[in-house]
Amino acid sequence: MTLMCFSHLRWDFVFQRPQHIMSMLAQNHHGSLGPVIFWEEPKFDAALSVPQIEKYAPASNVTVYVPHLPEGLDAPTVDQALRALLDEQLRTVSGPLVRWYYTPMMLSFSRHVDAACTVYDCMDELSNFRFAPPELVALEAELLACADLVFTGGYSLYEAKRTLHASVHAFPSSVDVAHFAKARTTASDPQDQAALPHPRLGFYGVIDERMDLGLLAALADARPQWSIVMVGPVVKIAPADLPQRSNIAYLGGKSYDELPAYAGGWDVALMPFAINASTQFISPTKTPEYLAAGLPVVSTPITDVVRHYGDLDAVEIAGTAEEFVAACDAALSRSREPAFAGWRKQADAVLAGQSWQAVASAMHDLIDEVIGKDRSAARPYYDYLVVGAGFAGSVMAERLARDGGKRVLVIDRRDHIGGNAYDHRDEAGILVHRYGPHIFHTNSRDIVDYLSNFTDWRYYEHRVLADIDGVRVPMPINRTTINCLYDLELSTDEEAAAFLASRAEPVEPVVTSADVVISKVGRELYETFFRGYTRKQWGMDPSELDKSVTSRVPTRTDTDDRYFTDTFQAMPADGFTAMFNAMLDHPLIDVMLGVDFADVVDDVDFDRLVFTGPIDEYFGHRFGKLPYRSLEFVHETLDQEWLQPVAVVNYPSEAVPYTRITEYKHLTGQVAAQTSITYEYPRAEGDPYYPVPRPENEALFKRYEALARATPEVVFVGRLATYRYYNMDQVVGQALATYRRLVAKDMAEAALSGHRLGETVKTAIAAE
Ligand code: FAD
Ligand code: UDP
Repeated sequence: MTLMCFSHLRWDFVFQRPQHIMSMLAQNHHGSLGPVIFWEEPKFDAALSVPQIEKYAPASNVTVYVPHLPEGLDAPTVDQALRALLDEQLRTVSGPLVRWYYTPMMLSFSRHVDAACTVYDCMDELSNFRFAPPELVALEAELLACADLVFTGGYSLYEAKRTLHASVHAFPSSVDVAHFAKARTTASDPQDQAALPHPRLGFYGVIDERMDLGLLAALADARPQWSIVMVGPVVKIAPADLPQRSNIAYLGGKSYDELPAYAGGWDVALMPFAINASTQFISPTKTPEYLAAGLPVVSTPITDVVRHYGDLDAVEIAGTAEEFVAACDAALSRSREPAFAGWRKQADAVLAGQSWQAVASAMHDLIDEVIGKDRSAARPYYDYLVVGAGFAGSVMAERLARDGGKRVLVIDRRDHIGGNAYDHRDEAGILVHRYGPHIFHTNSRDIVDYLSNFTDWRYYEHRVLADIDGVRVPMPINRTTINCLYDLELSTDEEAAAFLASRAEPVEPVVTSADVVISKVGRELYETFFRGYTRKQWGMDPSELDKSVTSRVPTRTDTDDRYFTDTFQAMPADGFTAMFNAMLDHPLIDVMLGVDFADVVDDVDFDRLVFTGPIDEYFGHRFGKLPYRSLEFVHETLDQEWLQPVAVVNYPSEAVPYTRITEYKHLTGQVAAQTSITYEYPRAEGDPYYPVPRPENEALFKRYEALARATPEVVFVGRLATYRYYNMDQVVGQALATYRRLVAKDMAEAALSGHRLGETVKTAIAAE
């Protein structure tokens, strides 16, 4: 199979995405892609009378074809000549072809070429560029219509293209960390940079209309003592338009190999791009390269830079010239910090998983799928097998693939993703939760920000009523609850507090779930609201359960009747399952449903395992079973618009066999003539839903945890694997932290074995 790459960028121009990806694909790790032909735009030559092809091989298995045409041909004749040249060359190519386009313009002379797979690797919104030919838009539409795969060079671009084609995949540009890390140890300055005084703030890349020239001038004027070093070819703008200052040096284009030597002599790296249509979709390739070079970065607010790197201490984002200068001040002082400074380690952790190899390999797999390579013949290989597609498994898979560039297989024994948070439309078309009501609430901005990558939100504050022999009162107990039950008119917090104090019984020490309630509200309210409910829910008396269980429910003296007081309370706008779908929608992630770990473990090759099921099950219950409480959910649809005034009504009485009824339309805001509800019946047997917090269970878990520590190739994460009564946000937080630790560990290992990040990181690790 020959890969024919049509590129408007010349191979010997700046070394970027096309060169990285084509070099990797040409190495042909999987064996299905043969040599790469890199077809460039024509060069026009007055001395030429007939078209010719110039060929050279810049990398192993890559041949660059440069068409040379006589000058003065009109556009149709150019197309004809190129088509003839292409056909002539293709006659020497055996076997099927993959066509790969970096520009739709080259479709005009190659649309007839028969290909087993056509790829459009879209690096930018080309039509936004200065001098973009008018036919570009039509040709892109044609390319989108005939392409089998569309890759995008960044997420903003992905969002712009995803609705235009059925198979669009985001592949943000990656970084060759080892190449740029050379900047950290470089000893000598390139000759044309050596005389420039420090501090030096540098940029490398194409200098064109995307550059904010005014900003550059303002920066130079604001800090005359700084040297601004501009490395790169100037194109599409007249050199005379560049700001000329004694402290701005334009050093011209350099080869990819030379860049680390230049960056090694800088103190701060710059991304001084104008914020306009031409930069709306640019992928922040330079940012990770600068970071790999060990430099702090100052950038204007390019969407994808902010999105991927904006949270790093190493990256300053500044919109106005004034802010940009201030950000450079901050970055300069950061650059003077020691080599093992936290900001560098943080940046290194983010870079650790990135490689062009991973990008090329994931692209290759997608091509294989299109050309129908018999994948079943080969045993599938994954970097990670993730058991469980709930919050824990999905967050891990998403991070490992999207951030870490790992190939991940996610499996679940259920026939759906989402774990216990799974929701779906029932027969009446109403969005219901299969495993009881799930309401998202958290105080963590980071967790909301993370999940917001995959969903919008519907703001919703949860309210619960308790049914006390037919009387509905707010739960958690608040002033309204007390006034209703005792027919009182307490009107202040103090009065309510005094009332509760008069009922409360001193308990010392507070150990159990009974103690914690009785010591706050007294025995009567405890029995009314907690004893029966808990005995049903847990199959044991509150006095046998750790205090953490009933402590989840507060007591209030005001009239706040919300169940939670977290700063963020909301439901995913299109439901949890839609959110999980977005998390797992990545070319490096495969999902297999309806399969148990035990059934696939021998059929899949994987390096490491993430296990989110019950930890005792993983270890064959060798110390005995950890107790989990189960529930039976009975779902019903009623021929009436509403059943109850709030989403959840609790039934604390032991005379009622279920604990609560949930009515989903309150959660989702859905409008329908019918209504769907769920009864929850607690059960001793069934799916494991709740770890049971008791001291002897914790002790048993600790024994399993010790086993887990002795099994470092398996990562245990989630509510069942860490035996924690965690809410969804806590599981997300736990998974994100687990991923960060994995990255740090991998990075430490890579650095210590000297493969990846060079001396700086070794020093950092040693200093820790
Ligand atoms: P799970 O969601 O349990 O996912 C684990 C997955 O692993 C499961 O899908 C399981 O099938 C799979 N699995 C296990 N073993 C294997 C195996 N051997 N092979 C293959 N697959 C396997 N949290 C809130 O924040 N708000 C709420 O309102 C809320 N309400 C809840 C109501 C109920 C009734 C319950 C039970 C929980 C509620 N939670 C709530 C907690 C929430 O469900 C959990 O925090 C969260 O779903 C845990 O995610 P997880 O990935 O750790 O586990
Ligand atoms: N609880 C109770 N009565 C109620 C609500 C809760 O006794 O009306 C107790 C019960 O033991 C329950 C625990 O408080 O398991 C925690 O309640 P929460 O609503 O936090 O449970 P979840 O459904 O979120 O697990």
